[in-house]
Amino acid sequence: MTDRKVRVRFAPSPTGPLHMGGVRTALFNYLFAKKHGGDFVLRIEDTDQTRYVPGAEDYIVESLNWCGLNPVEGPGIGGDFGPYRQSERKAVYKKYADQLIESGWAYYAFDTTEEIDALRKAAEANKETFSYGIATREKLNNSLSLSEEEVRQKIEAGENYVIRFKMPADEDVTEDDIIRGSVTFNTSKSLDDKVLFKSDGLPTYHLANVVDDHLMEISHVIRGEEWLPSMPLHVLLYRALGWEDTKPRFAHLPLILKPVGKGKLSKRDGDKLGFPVFPLEWTDPKTGDVSKGYREEGYFAEAFINMLALLGWNPGTEQEFFSMDELSDIFSLERVVKSGSRFDPEKAKWFNRHYFQEKSVEELAELFKPVLAEKGIESTDEKTLAVVAEIKERCEFVSELWEQSSYFFVAPTEYDAKTVKKRWKEDTSEKLSEIVAMFVTVETWKADSIKETFSAFMNEKEWGFGMIMNPLRLSLVGGNLGPDLFVICELLGKEESIKRINTAIEKIDI
Ligand code: GLU
Repeated sequence: MTDRKVRVRFAPSPTGPLHMGGVRTALFNYLFAKKHGGDFVLRIEDTDQTRYVPGAEDYIVESLNWCGLNPVEGPGIGGDFGPYRQSERKAVYKKYADQLIESGWAYYAFDTTEEIDALRKAAEANKETFSYGIATREKLNNSLSLSEEEVRQKIEAGENYVIRFKMPADEDVTEDDIIRGSVTFNTSKSLDDKVLFKSDGLPTYHLANVVDDHLMEISHVIRGEEWLPSMPLHVLLYRALGWEDTKPRFAHLPLILKPVGKGKLSKRDGDKLGFPVFPLEWTDPKTGDVSKGYREEGYFAEAFINMLALLGWNPGTEQEFFSMDELSDIFSLERVVKSGSRFDPEKAKWFNRHYFQEKSVEELAELFKPVLAEKGIESTDEKTLAVVAEIKERCEFVSELWEQSSYFFVAPTEYDAKTVKKRWKEDTSEKLSEIVAMFVTVETWKADSIKETFSAFMNEKEWGFGMIMNPLRLSLVGGNLGPDLFVICELLGKEESIKRINTAIEKIDI
């Protein structure tokens, strides 16, 4: 790498919620910047007003924030290269479009949408595709075919025009992509004359993107594979604008594939296949449709990030768990693969389980408290901590804490029919009444002492443990679940345990 300061940007368009692929692009940019002591910049590319979706920019910012991918420059943050919202940079671009016209790299085109549509349809009728470019432009309504005078008159008359890039004919444009190696595109074979500037006075993505990358001194453009076909145009724009010396290096990230391994993971896949594809929940402002988010589904940001980091990148070792700091230390674009990587929703859960288990009981109890409060449950800190300690091992999400522990807080109102049928015998009620009488005599209501008294009692009675333990558990928790029975008794408290056994004796009728 040269001595140039590493400056990378994440440049989303606020056209909807950020897809997890977009978060991965942000992550790889962020890691690359950290690794090289560089700057991670957020730039909002909102020049296409027709695709603007209210709330999308806030969503992007909140997503990055949740993931811990904090830009050092961006809208609302500031920086020396602002503004960072392209709609606020309108005044910047026109001059470069004019410069391209003057140097012969671009031209005015006056063709109306209707005229272009007609050309497209005519081509389709011949089973061809219309392309505005090298082969067709001389015959169309533009400053290449019209006289200077005609062009001047049209512009003065206020006729709508766009500015198009004049693609040089039959040139092999070769560029070195850090991930893909040398990539060559032939201008005549695959490239048309893209619109750079529109009649609404705004640049298109291509011009704005290149101009801003230059002005913001971006050293590396790291973005999704879908932008690879734009690379030759961007490379030519750097040449045309005289900026070749400071042209950034490019790295196009591989696609994230559907769980079946074929096809790009799309925004719609999540709802179809039952897992989130967005970092945060998103409510479509037009339809009100809600799409799931990793955060709301109970994933930890660390798990989400860890999972994303391994989609397309690998450390070259067997290590699978990485903190953000570790990732920043070892990340390299050279270890990003070219081929698409299959997304596995089960693996995402697996990562969450790991981070869940890594949390201390105290941290998990803090996360559990609002859940309890929402359900109107009053619990002491001591009890909440003790409950979490007991069931932590069985869970991978905070939401499961309640599923696994509700009986600690709410007495069962129903009893699992199968267990009743199998375990509740004719003399069970009678025996449990004797257990209650024995429980009354236990002085220290701690799991160990309850167990001791219970065992002595059982030995004396010569009752089989199985006969009693299962109905007892059924009475206390409503089914055949939960941790050690005596721990359950301790946490429920003496009074509540006795009450629950008596209720079961009353209610279970065989
Ligand atoms: N605005 C483009 C997007 O939405 C940015 C592509 C790029 O990084 O050049 O993805």
